[in-house]
Amino acid sequence: MRFASLGSGSQGNSTLVAADDTLLMVDCGFTPKEAEARLQRVGVTPASLDAILVTHEHGDHCAGVASLSKRHGIPVYLTHGTAATNRLSGCHQQVLVNAGARFSIGSITCSAVPVPHDAREPVQFRFDAGGWSLGILTDLGSITPHLVASFSGCDGLLLEFNHELDLLMQGPYPGTLKRRVAGDFGHLNNAQAGHLLSQLDNRRLRILVAGHLSQQNNTPEHALAALAGVAAHHGARIQVASQDSGFDWLSLLEEAEPSLSAAVGT
Ligand SMILES: [Zn+2]
Ligand SMILES: [Zn+2]
Repeated sequence: MRFASLGSGSQGNSTLVAADDTLLMVDCGFTPKEAEARLQRVGVTPASLDAILVTHEHGDHCAGVASLSKRHGIPVYLTHGTAATNRLSGCHQQVLVNAGARFSIGSITCSAVPVPHDAREPVQFRFDAGGWSLGILTDLGSITPHLVASFSGCDGLLLEFNHELDLLMQGPYPGTLKRRVAGDFGHLNNAQAGHLLSQLDNRRLRILVAGHLSQQNNTPEHALAALAGVAAHHGARIQVASQDSGFDWLSLLEEAEPSLSAAVGT
């Protein structure tokens, strides 16, 4: 199982997950043209995507989904609540699922895990294939016991480190936006993400990527400072996803043996 990101942050998100002959895209917050260019960078043609899974209707996750789906005949998996927003009505094909559902696409089992976020029926995903588990967990304002259970035992995890609380509060956002971002249905700050990480069963964790960093209210250094102590303890490879280039393919198999030279800061 491997995964890559076309970009991660409030300007657009899209993640690829591959196992055996199955290739999935999670979200597409980029225009189809931009997404196609970014796909090319990681060696993927749009037509080779088996499905696009949508986490929720916010523009940084769904802006390009309908057009990309239509252009290349790709089915789109989304919750009933996300579909009800009509932000994805132009898709080639919609497959509606419930938050909490577990379903298979090709050789990948997908679990749609409900998250506390200010959207209609938002979910995040855990993927299982061939004994490997990968979690993608961004866009949540608080931690629930169900989330801790659902994302424990992953081999790879892309986790939201949205903002440093002090930077957000001292920054230029208007008060209403600050309260929204920091609220229970907003986004995880660095300390919350570190706290969540400390609650998960991380014994299998080999790759941890900090994602969805706010360009305004966070820095990779702040995120790394919050997570290094937790994940490095388990020997996981650690890196930060960027808005411009996401990250290139990471293979859970290749990271199966924990490296002593954990790539902190790269
Ligand atoms: Zn987002
Ligand atoms: Zn969102």
